[in-house]
Formats: sequence, C-alpha cells, structure tokens
Amino acid sequence: METSPDVRPVLDADERARRGARAAELAADLERADVVAVALTWVDVSGITRTKTVPVARLEHAASWGVGMSPVFDVFLLDDSIVSGRYVGGPTGDLRLHPDLGRLVPLAALPGWAWAPADRFTQEGAEHPVDARSVLRREVARLADQGYSIRTAFEIEWAVSDGDDGGSDPDQREDFTPACNGPAYGMTRISELSGYLRDLLKALAATGVRVEQLHPEYAQGQLEISVAAEDPVGAADTAVLVRETIRAVSFEHGLAASFSPKVLAGSVGNGGHVHLSLWRDDPAEGPVNTMSGGDGWHGMSAAGEAFTEGVLSRLPALLAVGAPSVASYLRLVPSHWAGAFACWGLENREAALRFVTGALGERAYAANLEVKCFDASANPYLALAGLLAAGRAGVTGKAELRAPTELDPATLNPRDRANECVSDLPSSLAESVAAFEADEVLQAAFGEALSDTIATVRRGEIALFENASPEEIAATTRWRH
Ligand code: GLU
Ligand code: MG
Repeated sequence: METSPDVRPVLDADERARRGARAAELAADLERADVVAVALTWVDVSGITRTKTVPVARLEHAASWGVGMSPVFDVFLLDDSIVSGRYVGGPTGDLRLHPDLGRLVPLAALPGWAWAPADRFTQEGAEHPVDARSVLRREVARLADQGYSIRTAFEIEWAVSDGDDGGSDPDQREDFTPACNGPAYGMTRISELSGYLRDLLKALAATGVRVEQLHPEYAQGQLEISVAAEDPVGAADTAVLVRETIRAVSFEHGLAASFSPKVLAGSVGNGGHVHLSLWRDDPAEGPVNTMSGGDGWHGMSAAGEAFTEGVLSRLPALLAVGAPSVASYLRLVPSHWAGAFACWGLENREAALRFVTGALGERAYAANLEVKCFDASANPYLALAGLLAAGRAGVTGKAELRAPTELDPATLNPRDRANECVSDLPSSLAESVAAFEADEVLQAAFGEALSDTIATVRRGEIALFENASPEEIAATTRWRH
C-alpha cells in the first residue's frame, strides 16, 4: 500500500502512554455517570457510520492500543455486500480504531452509552491511508501551512416515518409513512411531534451540540437542524453525532429517521448542505473571513473568490464524495432546491453554490458558501476533505471567480446557460466517478489507495442498481445512512 510523505507514524510509546492515562481519568468520570460502554465510530466509504464498542473498563486499552478491525469494511457497499479494490478487500489485514478522547461524550439519547469518533491507525502506529478523518486533518494542516483556516457546518435534513410500518427491522421498514402530516414549514408539524423534537433538542444540548435552528422542511415528514460552525474535523464529527442522536431519539419515540437523498422517488430529497468559509490568519487582527470585507463579488476578498472558483470548477469530481450514492442523482434535479447546476449566486437556491452574506452588520462573521449539491449519504470527512483540497487548489492557483448566476438556471434555454456562467453537473454517479478519477487535485489529496477505494465502492453501487427503478433505488437506500 502506498504511503504518502504526510502519513507518518504518530503513535509512539509516549503517545500511547499519554492517551492511556487520559482515558483512565475519563473512564472514571464515565463510570460515575453510569456509562457502561463506549461506541467508537468511523464512517465508511459508502457513507455508513459503523462501530465497535468497548466496556468502559477497556477504554484505557483502546486508547493506547486501539481496537482491531478488518480493513475490508472500507469496501462495504450500502447494502453490506462487499467488493474488492486494488488496495483494499479480502479477509486479511488489520487496523486499529483509536478513540479521539477530545470528543468523547456520553450519549444523552442512549443512556449508559458514550461515543467517540475513531481515528484509524496501522498496527505500526501510523495513520491508515484510507482513514477519512486523517485525510481531512491533513487537508486542514495544508491550508494552515498557507495561513488559512475553515469554519464549517453540515445542515442535517431527515424525514421521519411512523414506526407502525415495522419498527427497526429493515426488512419490514420498506415503506415510508410520514410521522407528521402538517404543511411544509407548518407549525402543525411541531405540534404533532413536539415531544419528539423537545427530547431531540435536549439530547443534542446535553452532548454539547450547538443547535442554531430546527424547522419543518418541504417534503412529507421532513425536518432540518442547523448547527454552529466549527473546525472541519469537529463539524464532520458533529454531523455523525447529530445523525445518531436523531436516529436514537426517533427509535425511542417509535419513529424511524431517513437521511437518504431520496426518501420517496417522487418527492423532494434530503440535502446534506455544507456551509463553509475560508479565514485568513492576520497577524494583527487574528482570523479574518475572506468571504466578506473584500472588493470582489458581493464583498468577497481575492482569496475567498479563488477558493469559491476552486470548489466550483471541481464540482463534477467532488460529487463522487459529496453526492456519492446512486440515489443522490434522483435528488440532484432542477427545481428541487438541490443545487443541480454548476454555478454560484447570491442567495441562489438553485445554484450548486449559494453565496450567503448574512445580514448587514454580521457579515464579517456570517458570510459563507453553501454547497447545496451534497447530501447526507456522503462520508462527511471525505466530503470536507474534497472541498478543502479543491478550494486550496483555487487559492494556490489564484483562480478567477466567474460571474454569479442570479436566476434559476432551469428557466434558461440550455444554449443560453453558458452565457450565464452555468454548466451542467453530472446526472449520474458514473459521470461523477469518471470526473473524480480524472481530477489530479482530488487524487493527490486522497492518495492512491483511498482514491481507488472510493471509485471501487462507487462502481459497486452502480452495479448494484444497474436495472433498478427509481422506486427500488429509493427503497433500498432509505434506511441505510
Ligand atoms: N431538501 C432540499 C435538498 O434536497 C433543500 C431544501 C433547502 O434549501 O433547505 O437539498
Ligand atoms: Mg433545508
């Protein structure tokens, strides 16, 4: 397996001892809080959060030495079938899951359980080349080397179904029966689900998630939560924690949550929009938001513009990690607020990149870019790593930002779209994978082993759904992410 120069051993004897000592302290706290076990999670390439758990008494060992795991999980498809790539696949090999103790937290929605996102290391103590969290950390470090940082957050949309259709048995949960029937954005939905949503907000607050907003969405049974911006790894962790908290509180209330890009073939889908802003480290002022206070488009600075163009120009390839399932392309259609066209625009909800300035007076902090074409079948670590790499390439190359699109591209004749700086996004996963494999920036950012694994899993899922109807794709994907 290739090792990039940035993948270096980090778990030496001192580091293992330090982690073990810290875990022993934390385990004592957990025991006092009646926590029995800790779930260590990672998100696989197909976007599913998978786990191994340890009793609290074993946390110290897990922190020092990790928990064994087969690398084969990286080539699982969303239906748990297994493919094989050039670097990953087959029954041999082992890697180690190490809890990030800085993020360890008791799960309010699952009493007796705590959670920690895992970093994956080799048995020799080096970051594993297909570990998504490490790849994202590396991208954060590369931007930091150039004097930049990122503030980001995932919006979480989900659709909640009445548990009467079979509870938690996936075979029995093929149907989706909306758990609330009130109008889109209607207060009725809050009344219908007030106990559920109250418990959800309480559980999120108790796990340290800073919720900024909760609202009923457009589709049947659909809701959305937005959370405060964080550093990229923190934001991806939060996306996992929010999703698992929603799932747990849903089960507790006899409901089931779907984060699928297309819950029902004929309806509006669930997005997994990413808000992000690039901040320049100013020696005098501290971090300054490059999305505001400049003399470029709508107040962007030159770096903010270059970052935006970097992302925009690579969107077709980025979709292989941001809209990574076959169902993603059922969602990514015009006139569904999914951002189905490659363009950017001020508050344009039909543009793949919606530029948000915030209200006058808060812009220096609030201005950001919303990547609308991504959905929640994405591994959040890979999605952000791709965005950071693409944006960095724009900044490094001083990319010139094209003009904004201030109308709905769907209203234009296809021939006129180019004049409005609009191009098409891939309409299938196969097209995105082809763009991804041809994109040198993303291939370099992910490294050969992970790039190959991503393409392998995508091709596996394309084959899985080869002759499937939209209804079949939606049904198979509905309860998986
Ligand atoms: N549900 C829409 C989507 O698929 C997004 C709605 C919104 O703008 O929040 O992305
Ligand atoms: Mg929304």
